[in-house]
Amino acid sequence: MKPYTLTIIKPDAVAAGHVGKIIDHIVSAGFKVRAMKLMRLTPEQAGMFYYIHRERPFYNDLVRYMSSGPVVPMVLEKDNAVADFRTLIGATDPAKAAEGTIRKLYAQSIEANAIHGSDSDDNAKLEAAFFFSALEWVD
Ligand code: UDP
Ligand code: MG
Repeated sequence: MKPYTLTIIKPDAVAAGHVGKIIDHIVSAGFKVRAMKLMRLTPEQAGMFYYIHRERPFYNDLVRYMSSGPVVPMVLEKDNAVADFRTLIGATDPAKAAEGTIRKLYAQSIEANAIHGSDSDDNAKLEAAFFFSALEWVD
C-alpha cells in the first residue's frame, strides 16, 4: 500500500462552497481519494482530534470553530503523501502561505484556514482511524 495522509476540509471552506474546487486541486496534484465523507464533529470529537493542542491558547476557539459546521475528512494516497500534501496546502497562516497553495487560495485566517493535513505518517494513521473504519476505505 502506498503512503497516505488524512485531510479535513474545514467548516469555513465547506460553508463557502469550496469543497469541489479543493477536491479538484487535490486530485489534480496526484492524490487518490481512498475514503471520504461529509459530517459534523461534536465539540467533544473536535476536542479529541486536536487533543495534542489542548494546552495551547487557541484550543478552545479551535474546538468551537471545528464543530461549527460540516467538514469533509478524506484519506489521500500518494508517494510521499504527508510532506507533499503539506506543501500543497501551504503554511498554517494563510498570510504566510505560498502562492497557489490551498490555504493561500481559500483560507480566511490562521484559525479558519480551510484545510487540515497530517504532520507525520504516524499521525496520518491515527487520524485516518479516528474518522474511518477499515470498511470505509476503497481501492
Ligand atoms: N490554529 C489557530 N491559531 C494558531 C495556530 C493554529 O487557530 O495560532 C489552528 C489552525 O486551524 C491550525 C490548527 O489550529 O490549522 C492546528 O494547528 P497546527 O499548528 O497543527 O497547524 P497545521 O498543522 O494545521 O498547519
Ligand atoms: Mg498540525
